[in-house]
Amino acid sequence: MPGAVIALNAGSSSVKFGLYEVDASGRPGLILRGVLDLGDAPRLTAKAANGALLHDRKLAADEGAHFGGLLDLIEGHIGGGSLIAAGHRIVHGGRDFIRPVRLTPDVIEAIEKLTPLAPLHQPRSLAPIRALAALRPELLQVGCFDTAFHQTISRTVARVALPRKYEAEGVRRYGFHGLSYEYIAGRLREISPRLAAGRTVVAHLGNGASLCAMRDGKSVDTTMGFSALDGLVMGTRCGSIDPGVLLYLLQEKGISPDNLEHLLYEESGLLGVSGISADMRTLAASDDPRAIEALELFVFRAARETAALANTLDGLDCLVFTAGIGENSAPIRSAICAKLEWLGVRIDAAANQAHAELISAPDSAVTVLVIPTDEELVVARCSLAVSRQ
Ligand code: ADP
Repeated sequence: MPGAVIALNAGSSSVKFGLYEVDASGRPGLILRGVLDLGDAPRLTAKAANGALLHDRKLAADEGAHFGGLLDLIEGHIGGGSLIAAGHRIVHGGRDFIRPVRLTPDVIEAIEKLTPLAPLHQPRSLAPIRALAALRPELLQVGCFDTAFHQTISRTVARVALPRKYEAEGVRRYGFHGLSYEYIAGRLREISPRLAAGRTVVAHLGNGASLCAMRDGKSVDTTMGFSALDGLVMGTRCGSIDPGVLLYLLQEKGISPDNLEHLLYEESGLLGVSGISADMRTLAASDDPRAIEALELFVFRAARETAALANTLDGLDCLVFTAGIGENSAPIRSAICAKLEWLGVRIDAAANQAHAELISAPDSAVTVLVIPTDEELVVARCSLAVSRQ
């Protein structure tokens, strides 16, 4: 193999990774995908591109965090070929990181300084970078930012209505899930250049969830803002909330800032409203009224925000569903679309049930698509591009 790239996507308790072989035309092709589980029972699993299990090993308590097992696995698979780069999904790029960058010590320090903007997510992104730098100091590492795709939103869309001095300090709307949106924008160009040039809302509905309004494949609005808390109801995050509620919790209930952070990021959303689970599958299978109410709220807010983004776009030509819920839950897609019928959205029930790529009915004014996302592939492509600079 001439060379390979590894893409890492660090989450709260696991790191997803993809290993890509660079073909003769210079494009990355998937060799394997895996998960390094850093939870209570650390484990390293990997599957080939065709889904066959290649590797499944329990790790010693502190072994996962060292990434040595992951590197051994990768290097075993590329044999004599070289590892060209390790690319990382990084949640926050602030105002300065608007394209993928080589992760030099100075750049890593600058990224670390953005931690106050994403206190939970940024340290997770940095941990594998540091671990790989210690293990393979000579390996090219590349950072790919979830905020970068939204650099095209206007000042008005980015602004929050606080006194101006806060904007100068970086208090503005950034938007997230940018690697997923970049992938979808690219797929849409392949599926239909006409649609890609039009007005699209992409619904990335996973544990974290957001919407992106795109015109001509570029972000013009999005539901996440200064932080990844804003916008839709998520697995455990609250989404948009009256700031008066936060003042009430701080001033009247005496909740500490740390506990408030935990409440908003980890105890709210589907989990908080249902009191049962953050997992859409569990809630969808439950007949508990609280689970039903949580799903109703999820759908209500997703539809409401889609309509708001259609307003930013002056109309809607295309609606794309992606990520865990968007790709797999026909009832949620159907319920969101039903609330958007006034916008001309009509879905084909059988196509939706079959998770077809095109799920809108022939008479729908809006084309509705289901497109599986692939953030790791975007990281691999961007890392290769940086390696050639
Ligand atoms: P993230 O990458 O943000 O952790 P995912 O994109 O993997 O999240 O999405 C996870 C969500 O997708 C969970 O709520 C899960 O229940 C939901 N999900 C996955 N498969 C299905 C399914 N078949 N039906 C309904 N929901 C599903």
